[in-house]
Amino acid sequence: MKEESLLDAKGERPAVVPPPTRQVLSDTRGRPLRDLRVSVTDRCNFRCTYCMPKEVFGKDFQFLEREQLLSFGEIHRLVRIFRDHGVHKIRITGGEPLVRRKLERLIEMLSYWSDLDLTLTTNGSLLKHSARALKAAGLKRITVSLDSLEDPVFKAMNDVDFPVEKVLEGIAEAAVAGLHPIKINMVVKRGVNDHSVLPMARYFKDRGCTLRFIEYMDVGATNDWRMEHVVPSRELVEIIDRELAIEPVDPGYRGEVAERWRYQDGSGEVGFISSVSQAFCRDCTRARLSAEGQLYTCLFASHGTDFRRLLRSGASDQEISQLIETVWSARTDRYSELRTAATVKLRKVEMSYIGG
Ligand code: SAM
Repeated sequence: MKEESLLDAKGERPAVVPPPTRQVLSDTRGRPLRDLRVSVTDRCNFRCTYCMPKEVFGKDFQFLEREQLLSFGEIHRLVRIFRDHGVHKIRITGGEPLVRRKLERLIEMLSYWSDLDLTLTTNGSLLKHSARALKAAGLKRITVSLDSLEDPVFKAMNDVDFPVEKVLEGIAEAAVAGLHPIKINMVVKRGVNDHSVLPMARYFKDRGCTLRFIEYMDVGATNDWRMEHVVPSRELVEIIDRELAIEPVDPGYRGEVAERWRYQDGSGEVGFISSVSQAFCRDCTRARLSAEGQLYTCLFASHGTDFRRLLRSGASDQEISQLIETVWSARTDRYSELRTAATVKLRKVEMSYIGG
């Protein structure tokens, strides 16, 4: 598939065209479409027990073939049309996005729209050697997932024996490269890494990184999720506040995923993502594009809409735009608000496929 050229006839980058002033798309609950998460691969070099357990994602697991993945040109085209619909934030994710070859090329293509908030979520394992190239390609900031500073705990969670030290080196390199602000995502699972919460807070507090605690979620159908493994955010707030005084901060914008708190000594912020204990569906403005071009309007969905078929059948921008409008305006989902013991058992798409 040919990638769209970014240069004009003189070989220069043309000025960024502002998106057309269309009416912002709204779903059946009045939620605008503002963010797009783009998964660039369903593969990952980790086997986190809560996300891609080895027993399921083993040697025989059938990952997507190369020709099934959207090409960078196809992603670029879709992002352009989504931007025309008011999307202003793009998060590159996966699987592990840094295992996709030449990812910097895609970043370079997407960074053409300087008004887009372009970011990426990674497990940090390959970051040390790619942080500078990503920054040079136009990535603005980065989020790194890290569940503990304790090697045995971290290795047991990533289940491929990957050491903490290498992720910390990646984070340090991202800081040197200027991928600020750096956010650190920690999934907290009771009895597994809840004792790592305070050490993580202490460590990142003075290093200019914003640590965000994510409640362990019932995404997909393979992680044997149970409510008793969830540590509600309010409990984490208390644990941290006892030693490192924190106070709430107003959200930066509607739909902000993390509830923000700041250290009272002025040394930065921590965030809490409480999709289980305090569902935030009513403010969800996110769509997700899988690596093979299926569009999902909820992390907990079981079905998507096929955009790759449209792209590869010669559809016009107008037709693609129309399908985006049809999907978003029909959107009713609010899974986390309706979560019950029965919904947990539904056959949902895996997070490694849909993108975190
Ligand atoms: N490989 C990249 C990474 O590790 O950040 C991007 C994909 S990963 C699916 C995105 C985020 O989802 C990570 O922060 C991961 O910890 C989180 N995640 C995966 N499974 C989860 C679960 N069951 N509950 C909560 N967060 C989860």
